[in-house]
Amino acid sequence: MTQRLYYENAYIREFDAVVTGCVKEKDHFRIMLDRSAFYPEGGGQSGDRGFLTRQDGTRLDVSDTREDGGDVYVVCSESVPVGEQIHGVTDWIFRFDRMQNHSGEHIVSGLIHETYGYNNVGFHMSSDRMTIDLDGEISDEGLDEIERRANEIVWADSVIRTDVYSHEEAAEVEYRSKKELMGDVRVVTIPGADVCACCGTHVARTGEIGIIKLLSHERLRGGIRIEMMCGRWAYEYLALIFRQNHEVSACLSSRMHQTSEAAKRMAEENTRLKGDLIGMLYAAIDRKSEELEGAGDVAVFVAGQDSTAAQKLTAKVMETCGGIAFSFAGSDDDGYKYAVGQENGSLKELVADMNRSLDGRGGGRPYFQQGSVTAKREQIEAFLTGRFPEIKIDLL
Ligand SMILES: [Zn+2]
Repeated sequence: MTQRLYYENAYIREFDAVVTGCVKEKDHFRIMLDRSAFYPEGGGQSGDRGFLTRQDGTRLDVSDTREDGGDVYVVCSESVPVGEQIHGVTDWIFRFDRMQNHSGEHIVSGLIHETYGYNNVGFHMSSDRMTIDLDGEISDEGLDEIERRANEIVWADSVIRTDVYSHEEAAEVEYRSKKELMGDVRVVTIPGADVCACCGTHVARTGEIGIIKLLSHERLRGGIRIEMMCGRWAYEYLALIFRQNHEVSACLSSRMHQTSEAAKRMAEENTRLKGDLIGMLYAAIDRKSEELEGAGDVAVFVAGQDSTAAQKLTAKVMETCGGIAFSFAGSDDDGYKYAVGQENGSLKELVADMNRSLDGRGGGRPYFQQGSVTAKREQIEAFLTGRFPEIKIDLL
């Protein structure tokens, strides 16, 4: 039975212990300890990492901590003989992040339980955020209010207390719990926020949580899943968002707290400008088709446009030119989208040949073909004049 130092004091970062068992499992070893400040995975909280220093001074990385019955074991890549004394050092940043987040989760779940009567029915912690699943829905405004109250609990800097009750004593205590518990019950109390049975590690005072930030929520099985983060995770994420918004604000020449309005205005402006450009493009296509009336075979290049422009252009010009109408939209760097049309034409063979010669692909109806080529304008023109010495090459 391992002595669980992390329950005596969650802030023990280094400790001495004796190896009580060592079992090979696949490509690693389970090293059992007589006492452990490494917290084993449980209740949604990850198992600790860190390292062991052996008698001969060598260091052995601990990649995970788990438990088996009453024993806590660490996962290492090498074995250590039973009876050897080791010095264990936890990865404190890793552990403290989880203590901040786990404690913050208690506050949010406790406040929701008190306000709405909903239960936390699922909890998951990844490497930089966590999710809690609730068996009821809460509005956006309701969640904003929970977040505000949760942070007030942080600012109150209250002591987080842990009491251990016997099974019989626990029956008399009011607390939130996910499942029916056997044996002694550890009850964690956060004044004003939560009383909950829990086997995890917590910060000593709520102020150490630093900040509680709810990020998003989605409907899930009749309730909601809330994504949230606390402490250093929240600080780093919000610092990233701040830097992003700083750049956005410089781009939009707007104040930091008004970037969304400026972005909306820019998006509307963009839509309007695109509409104007399309109108101008279509007017230019109409003029070009009039200009090329009776010109015979023609090829028109249009810079920086897409397949729609090529198709519109060809569809218009083929009505007036009296020959084959080629349109190429794009650039030498990005390649060209093409459309080829001729009233009652039979263009399949011609276009197949063009695709072969100009590294392209495409197809369509006999009188109207479309596709793309990667060839440069010079190569396209050489192909066209080779086939149609009289072809008129033009620009839109
Ligand atoms: Zn807990």
